Amino acid sequence: MRVAVLGGGVVGVAAAWYLAEAGAEVTVVERNDEAASECSFAPTGQLAPGHCGAWASPRAPGILLRSLVNPDAALRLLPHALPGLMRWGIAFLRECTDERYMRNSLIKLRLCLDSTQATRDLRDRLGLRYDNNDNGALFLHRDRARFEKEAKGAAAMAAHGLKLEVLDADGAARIDPGLAPVKDRLVGALYSPVDGSGDCGAFTRALAERAAAKGVVFRYGSTIERIEEDADRISGVATSSGRIEADAYVLCLGAESPRLMDPLGVHLPIYPVKGYSMTLPIKPGGAVPKMAMVDENNLVGIARLGDRVRFAGKAVFTGYDTKIVPEMFGGMKKVARDLFPDGVDETQPTYWACLRPMTADGPPIMGTAKHRNLYLNTGHGHVGWTLACGSGRAIANMVFGRDPGIDLEGVRLEGREL
Ligand SMILES: Cc1cc2nc3c(=O)[nH]c(=O)nc-3n(C[C@H](O)[C@H](O)[C@H](O)COP(=O)(O)OP(=O)(O)OC[C@H]3O[C@@H](n4cnc5c(N)ncnc54)[C@H](O)[C@@H]3O)c2cc1C
Repeated sequence: MRVAVLGGGVVGVAAAWYLAEAGAEVTVVERNDEAASECSFAPTGQLAPGHCGAWASPRAPGILLRSLVNPDAALRLLPHALPGLMRWGIAFLRECTDERYMRNSLIKLRLCLDSTQATRDLRDRLGLRYDNNDNGALFLHRDRARFEKEAKGAAAMAAHGLKLEVLDADGAARIDPGLAPVKDRLVGALYSPVDGSGDCGAFTRALAERAAAKGVVFRYGSTIERIEEDADRISGVATSSGRIEADAYVLCLGAESPRLMDPLGVHLPIYPVKGYSMTLPIKPGGAVPKMAMVDENNLVGIARLGDRVRFAGKAVFTGYDTKIVPEMFGGMKKVARDLFPDGVDETQPTYWACLRPMTADGPPIMGTAKHRNLYLNTGHGHVGWTLACGSGRAIANMVFGRDPGIDLEGVRLEGREL
């Protein structure tokens, strides 16, 4: 079977790998000159079942409204984006109840747990190295009232397969001695042993290399201009380097997915939410983290990637704009100085910005919709690195008409279209 995978980010490359393993003749179509050049290039890097909470929560509308007047907020809604955000925004607001938040978060948790294991299995099987570790993650708290509330919620997650240990500041510093010099700044932390981290871009490029060696064809520098339909099937894809035909198509275009699907009358509930990361080299002798962390009060993710530490965050609703705005790194720099003052070298930063493909409710979109040979595999939002391998494996099973191998309730497009 000939399969065209549209998009060469981590989600597309993982799908291509599992499809090739299942015996498909795979072509990956990617507009850049190498894999993982857009959102998969430099995300924080957390493999993060412990960070699977849906963004649409009862607190979210207030946070977004306040951000209209607070330029330093980690979540920012820019007024000029409002017209383009209307339909997605209404769908998002509908999900901001306690009940919907819980439902959406548990769907994501199920997928994140499955996919974290799939990523590690693939890593071990292929011997991939990408500055990875399985050290778990710490969710750091500086505010007692909020910490106590989160600690209560943590106990409820155990019933759904996520073990979260509640630690005081000393306990957090015992789990990661890199925090010992600054533990007085914390009231406590939640520790998720199943989490880990790794360089998503390096993983994707390494997997793309293995896939190419297995016969997957990568058509880099090919921009998809149009997806062409014939009744209930896709008949081909028009690209800047010619037309591509296949028996099945897997759409992994990240934040660009709605722009290619809208002309076909399929309105994906995905908005491009801009995020930023700053990667700093480690200084010799200073205290640095050995594991992934989230500074919950400042909404900054932190990952140890070999001899570097990456700080990431910001969620800016500003349409399809990927320009790097230097002021956006202020919060990350503050956290870097506050937690690891002697450990990271701020004079040699690598800055990056990109667009998360966020669905309004939170879970990704997978499976067929209007066209029976087009498989959607997109909208993985703030946990696409975590979800890529599990999604790729499930999609490959679907393309071959097999059981996806995981419960896909809540990820199909039906009932979620804008
Ligand atoms: C600041 C930040 C921090 C993050 N941290 C984490 C984290 O710690 N853990 C985690 O799990 N996730 C994290 N994420 C989310 C994760 O990075 C994304 O969900 C994931 O990279 C999405 O992968 P993708 O393959 O769907 O999209 P992309 O990587 O964007 O891939 C889509 C590909 O499609 C190609 N494409 C688009 N349009 C066309 C076209 N017309 N023709 C040809 N090619 C096209 C693009 O060039 C691109 O390569 C973070 C994201 C951000 C922004």
